[in-house]
Amino acid sequence: MMRPRHTIQHRLVLYVSLCLLALSVLSSGVSYRLSFDRELDNAIALERQLVKTIQAQAEVAVYASNTAIAEGVIEGLLANPGILAVQIVGKSSRHFQVGATPENTSYVTSVTEYPLFSPVDGTERIGSISIFRNETMIRTDATSNAQHQTVLLLLHVLVTALLIILFSRHLVGKPVAQLAETLATIKPGSGKRVHVPARHANTEIGSLGESANALIQAAEEALAEVEALATTDALTGLLNRRAFMAKLADEQARLQRHELRRTCVLMLDLDHFKDINDRHGHAAGDAVLQYFGHLLSHELRKIDSAGRIGGEEFAILLPDTHPQSAFTFAERLRSLLESAAIPYGDKNLGITVSIGIGRLDPSEPEAGLALRRADHALYRAKHEGRNRVLID
Ligand code: GH3
Ligand code: MG
Ligand code: MG
Repeated sequence: MMRPRHTIQHRLVLYVSLCLLALSVLSSGVSYRLSFDRELDNAIALERQLVKTIQAQAEVAVYASNTAIAEGVIEGLLANPGILAVQIVGKSSRHFQVGATPENTSYVTSVTEYPLFSPVDGTERIGSISIFRNETMIRTDATSNAQHQTVLLLLHVLVTALLIILFSRHLVGKPVAQLAETLATIKPGSGKRVHVPARHANTEIGSLGESANALIQAAEEALAEVEALATTDALTGLLNRRAFMAKLADEQARLQRHELRRTCVLMLDLDHFKDINDRHGHAAGDAVLQYFGHLLSHELRKIDSAGRIGGEEFAILLPDTHPQSAFTFAERLRSLLESAAIPYGDKNLGITVSIGIGRLDPSEPEAGLALRRADHALYRAKHEGRNRVLID
């Protein structure tokens, strides 16, 4: 049997892994965004805390236009690695400026300006302190967090793919392949069936096996029906001419292997059958043929075979039968038919039969010669007045 190139298992692993990978890429993007926002919030909160602690000093520096105090404040703030630069600016009349904007523009920065109020009344706005945040650092932290998450997710993908390979092979791949292999070896008529292991009895594999068995059963029945149709005469249920001749040839071959055995063949022809048709109709003739067919089937042994080889002509093969016993058997048939009242509608029909017997000769190349001898005896029986049995 040809092995499939793409197994369900491979596809399953491929599709699930691709989906999980796409999901990982998406989730690492989301994770980066969330992490960046969190880090930024933390940085801003810390910065506010710091500004709160130095606000009073910065306000004094601006109010007094004291550069030394302002530089002290800026130096303290710059000790924080998240702050790139600080600028303290006094408004209008108190024009005053200490500190600078960042020199290195390769850093991504964001700036927040906090207001400074007069230390005398606490309400007059006298200037501001601007803090330039190091956003590159925050981005780097967020990226590193997202990378950790991604590595973890990829590990999950790998483990999931391995688990799918393991379980799908055990649960689906192997049993389906076994089922396919078994099915490939089963031929209708062999009597073989798919065996479904108990653990798969209630699974789809079990149903598949049962359906396959039902299909094989149906194929065998159809085959048997076709065989029966090809070998059976529809009206009488006996063998048809072709099947009877095959049986006769088989018996001749068997005799040639066992020369001591004796086998006889009988030719039977209903007497004046045409009269039945003419007087009572074709259907009555059919009823007589059917009756005679049943009579033969009833009287035969298991090893005997009977066939309808012409319109109202029959033949019987009696294996392992001496001509004398064949004669006794034929005589019983003749007498049974002679005394039979064959029911047809509200009438009873009567008919007789003439029978010729021939013996199969193992030295002859084919059984047709024996049939011809039986036919010759039948011809004589007809000639001598019908309703009689003659041996060639
Ligand atoms: P004999 O005693 O010489 O055999 O005379 P017979 O009338 O039996 O023989 P004949 O050969 O003259 O007639 C056979 C008839 O059988 C002719 C044919 O119409 C009829 N027959 C053949 N097949 C069938 C059949 O299937 N059904 C019916 N009803 N009649 C059939
Ligand atoms: Mg005839
Ligand atoms: Mg006849």
